[in-house]
Amino acid sequence: MKYVVVSGGVLSGLGKGVTASSIGVLLKSAGLRVTSLKIDPYLNSDAGTMSPFEHGEVFVLDDGGEVDLDLGNYERFLDINLGRNNNVTTGKIYSQVIEAERRGDYLGKTVQVIPHITGAVQDWLESVAHQPADGSDEVPDACIIELGGTVGDIESAPYIEALRQFQFRVGRENVTFVHVSLVPVMGPVGEQKTKPTQHTVKELRGLGITPDILVCRSTAPLADETREKLAAFCHVKPEAVMSTHDVPNIYHVPLMLQEQGLCDILELDCNATDLLEQWRVMAYHLDTLTEEVHIAMVGKYTNLSDAYLSVIKSLQHAAMAVDRKLVIDWIEASHLESDWADSSEREQAWEMLKQAAGVLVPGGFGDRGIEGKILAAEYARTHSTPYLGICLGLQVATIEFCRNVLGFKDSNSTEFDENCKNPAVIFMPEISKTHLGGTMRLGSRPTLWQVEDCTIRRLYGDGDSVDERHRHRYEVNPDMIEDIEAAGLKFVGKDETGQRCEIFELEGHPYYIGVQYHPEFKSRPGRPSPPFLGLLKAATGQL
Ligand code: GLN
Repeated sequence: MKYVVVSGGVLSGLGKGVTASSIGVLLKSAGLRVTSLKIDPYLNSDAGTMSPFEHGEVFVLDDGGEVDLDLGNYERFLDINLGRNNNVTTGKIYSQVIEAERRGDYLGKTVQVIPHITGAVQDWLESVAHQPADGSDEVPDACIIELGGTVGDIESAPYIEALRQFQFRVGRENVTFVHVSLVPVMGPVGEQKTKPTQHTVKELRGLGITPDILVCRSTAPLADETREKLAAFCHVKPEAVMSTHDVPNIYHVPLMLQEQGLCDILELDCNATDLLEQWRVMAYHLDTLTEEVHIAMVGKYTNLSDAYLSVIKSLQHAAMAVDRKLVIDWIEASHLESDWADSSEREQAWEMLKQAAGVLVPGGFGDRGIEGKILAAEYARTHSTPYLGICLGLQVATIEFCRNVLGFKDSNSTEFDENCKNPAVIFMPEISKTHLGGTMRLGSRPTLWQVEDCTIRRLYGDGDSVDERHRHRYEVNPDMIEDIEAAGLKFVGKDETGQRCEIFELEGHPYYIGVQYHPEFKSRPGRPSPPFLGLLKAATGQL
């Protein structure tokens, strides 16, 4: 097993996750089986309880793990499926050690950060690295370990110590340390400054880890003298100083690292497969797209694109497949509501909705903006605008249908109005067998087709069922299904009990689809998720 450990310095937001996934692409291009692990040094057990406001989207895995969005990058870049254990958190490590202590496993010893926490971290890393991740039974050849946070943070210190020890446990020749840093540009001539990187490397070396490779985020390619200076002061070879400068799209990043000789440093034959060629085609194809397609995203965190990262990626994958440049028009759902106080904001929101070639209402929790989302679903239904509702987006469209087509004026979801009459959506928890008290329906579940033929089934292609990932507690009210279907909104996909509605499709509409699951978690570049592809095809007249 070869390990690539990626740490970061100076500040967050340097694209450490993209850098780490891109290195994974290079390993894969050499024919290796690659997996990855992300370390998040916070005390939360997982990302499930964290606000998208603060932390970006909660990414959901097949096994129901609610994890950091960086795991989404790994799944998309490396085309692998990870599990909850691929996200290490301080909460998980400490719980494990404390439980072991209570069982008496430490035989009377004083339990300490070193060696017990650092030992538990290393055991975890080594064991998860050996789990197959690419759908085969084969143990991976290489594992990318990304350390979240910035070197020097108090909370990441035990992990740095664990990784320092790890190089002796698995053999120094089997670990490559990559440090991602920033090279800012100052002054009228645009001088590239090396001091922040010098400092962070000094700090890392003080903790016992000497980076083999430096990846420097900057606006323009590193000048030769910058590279040499960094090499001299940071104790790395000049050819091991990589530049990740601004590029038109992220598919260029693996190519950019390869062009600077990273494969030679890692002793990889990156032409062993045609993977990099595929990335090259994708990167340049995306650059050439000029004809735009406007998709309105009606959501709650519209000023924070990380909150919908996988949805955005899925739209991009689908837009690429229909040869269009994606433009997302962000609409704050509450701005559509008739009592929204600022009339110019309201007009602007409605104008954007009307101009859009397609409308997407993504998942969400809580009642803010619900009425606005219902209005967006109504507009799309009555104006033949292609619509995709995901999770909450399916629920609001069902409420809208019950109110305006079936005439149940006060219909709602019991999430927002517990006592409403004729609820369209009700609490249907799934009682977790592994997590006491867990009511969320989480992770991969099968959806069975209820009809021989329909638009969404054709988009998914062969097979009697589809497996997609879930994260919700509420569902379409089974008592309403008959009336809703009689009026033309067909539940064409259900779970294996026939109780839970997974997919609807509206008869006589070009594309009006709702899915109770989150298809965005399984979309891949070059293999767009079918509901998204359908939306983009319908929006561009290609369905
Ligand atoms: N709040 C809704 C539920 O729990 C929708 C969840 C979601 O969109 N992920 O069912």
